[in-house]
Amino acid sequence: MTSGTVHDVVIIGHGIAGAALAWEFLLRGHQPLVIDRLASTTSSLVAAGIVTPITGQRVALGWRIAEFWPVATAFYHATAALLGTNFFHRLPHVRLLSSADEERRWAEKQHDPAFKEWLVSPAPDPLIPKGIIPSPGFAMHSGWLDVPNWLAASRDFLRARNALLHAEAGPVTPNPNGPATIQTSAGPITARHIVFCQGHEASSHPLFSWLRWKSAKGEILDLNIPSLPSDRILNRGVWLLPLGGNRFRTGSGYAWDDFSSTPTPSARAAIESKLQNLLQLPYEVTGHSAAVRPIIRESRAVIGRHPSHPSIAFFNGLGSKGVLHAPWYARQLADCLLHNSPVEYESDLCRND
Ligand SMILES: Cc1cc2nc3c(=O)[nH]c(=O)nc-3n(C[C@H](O)[C@H](O)[C@H](O)COP(=O)(O)OP(=O)(O)OC[C@H]3O[C@@H](n4cnc5c(N)ncnc54)[C@H](O)[C@@H]3O)c2cc1C
Repeated sequence: MTSGTVHDVVIIGHGIAGAALAWEFLLRGHQPLVIDRLASTTSSLVAAGIVTPITGQRVALGWRIAEFWPVATAFYHATAALLGTNFFHRLPHVRLLSSADEERRWAEKQHDPAFKEWLVSPAPDPLIPKGIIPSPGFAMHSGWLDVPNWLAASRDFLRARNALLHAEAGPVTPNPNGPATIQTSAGPITARHIVFCQGHEASSHPLFSWLRWKSAKGEILDLNIPSLPSDRILNRGVWLLPLGGNRFRTGSGYAWDDFSSTPTPSARAAIESKLQNLLQLPYEVTGHSAAVRPIIRESRAVIGRHPSHPSIAFFNGLGSKGVLHAPWYARQLADCLLHNSPVEYESDLCRND
């Protein structure tokens, strides 16, 4: 990182987006430089990291799940091989239905081959463990990324290779004919490609001011629940993620008018009230955190080169699907930067709507 060095790729932000892109470059044999201020609360550090193939009140298959899932699982597997630890844990996910409408939708869809592929067969027996309010439901294949520990391991790996700079990134000077320079608290850095992966914070970046953001704050509670089995994720309007032993996480709600990372009593009350529809056991709240999901076009990533400054690129808008979508879009963005491949229209930064 000596002055005068022109880096190939500089990535601003080491959340799920920036880390996935950094690893895509590393796995292809390139050396990126990642710059992050290493804040203690970010969307990625708060995220539960769950991937849910069948979602929502419509009991619908997640958008392009059959394409994204194999890419995501192969990607986290590949990072595990270099990090020496696996952070993506496959786990059955028991979805309990909470209305007659949901039951009707499920009855219509459960024999559809596209759905059946995601069902755990045979389902865990019993499907609903003691301490959970019984209702109809099903078990699907699922998993979760231990995001904070994956990012911590990634940070150490990058740091050991001089590929992580702990600094505040400032203004950037694009250059139409060559590398761009970004000011940082550690001095100016010049690179052929500078990719902004700043999460919700990019909503005030002057170079991307035409994007319309719809970010949403979410909150998570850490729980201690004695005697609830920890072999499955449970979900009935609110999810319960087992972390091992008596430790669980639950959440997470959407607030559209508060972009702080301050946990609120009202969000906690809302989560606990939903939990009453799922859990019959006593529990203790041991932690409470909040962060803002970066949302631009629903939970669909926005990637690509800046329309006027080809050395500047963007990777953001992962919404609530960061773990599932980041590897797919990191791959596309790396192809775009290295080989000038076009990015998919629906996620293109330059899309005009
Ligand atoms: C409560 C909650 C629950 C969630 N649950 C899930 C879930 O179960 N599954 C799932 O897939 N997703 C979940 N998400 C969504 C997921 O967290 C996001 O999709 C993802 O974290 C977005 O990652 P990102 O890298 O774009 O942004 P961020 O995580 O915000 O990362 C941006 C990084 O850039 C750094 N940065 C920004 N500006 C600068 C600067 N000027 N200088 C230096 N560094 C800078 C920040 O410090 C940060 O590290 C959840 C989110 C929340 C809030």
